[in-house]
Amino acid sequence: MPALSNKPYRVGRSRTGLGLFATKPIKKGAKIVRYFGPLLDSRKKKDDAIENKYLFELNGRWTIDGSVRKNIARYINHACKPNAESDVMPRKRKVVIRAIKNISPGEEINYDYGTDYFKAYLKPIGCKCAACEKKRKKKRAEARAERLRLKAKAEKKALKKAEKQAAKAREKLKEKLKEKLKLQLKQKLNGAKPNGKLLNGKHSNGFGRSSGAARKSAAAKPRTSAKPGTTATAAAQDQQAIA
Ligand SMILES: [Zn+2]
Repeated sequence: MPALSNKPYRVGRSRTGLGLFATKPIKKGAKIVRYFGPLLDSRKKKDDAIENKYLFELNGRWTIDGSVRKNIARYINHACKPNAESDVMPRKRKVVIRAIKNISPGEEINYDYGTDYFKAYLKPIGCKCAACEKKRKKKRAEARAERLRLKAKAEKKALKKAEKQAAKAREKLKEKLKEKLKLQLKQKLNGAKPNGKLLNGKHSNGFGRSSGAARKSAAAKPRTSAKPGTTATAAAQDQQAIA
């Protein structure tokens, strides 16, 4: 790669490989470099068969084959918002790359390759120019922000739903407890009468055992209370004597 010091550019690394960069300020409208190479005549079969990425069509007949090493302009990358343009002079069969903005040293020099090239080579892989990258970045950031917004919205909704459900459950539980308490209270209030009746019923039904036991215990009580301890000790003494 020739890097002539009097030229206002050099070949350097760009985001897509190599590119042409300004080394000196380039004034708007100034010629930067000529795009040159052998002229191909589309009427000649041999010329028409040549195919590469550096063909620059001048008109229906003539095309510049810019793939030659000497053509430094072939390093210039495409940009959708370029700082240079290709000035095509079909009659002179000449193409010159010209600045359309003031270009500062260090800036990459770009021109728009045109719709045909864009459709054939750049659109399928996605244009990597600064403007398109910026657009993509912005789109990605927007998509990310939208995703985050939707996520936050969904989370908020879920939280609200959970809170609603919890409140509903609490209300249900409260209602259940109330019902339970009411039932218990009702049972307690009603319980006194039916229980008594039931006991009376048992007596009136004449279950011999229960009534007999009641009578027995009732009879036994006064005896033990009349002579507390003595009967027990006497019984113990009897038992000891037997033993
Ligand atoms: Zn682009």
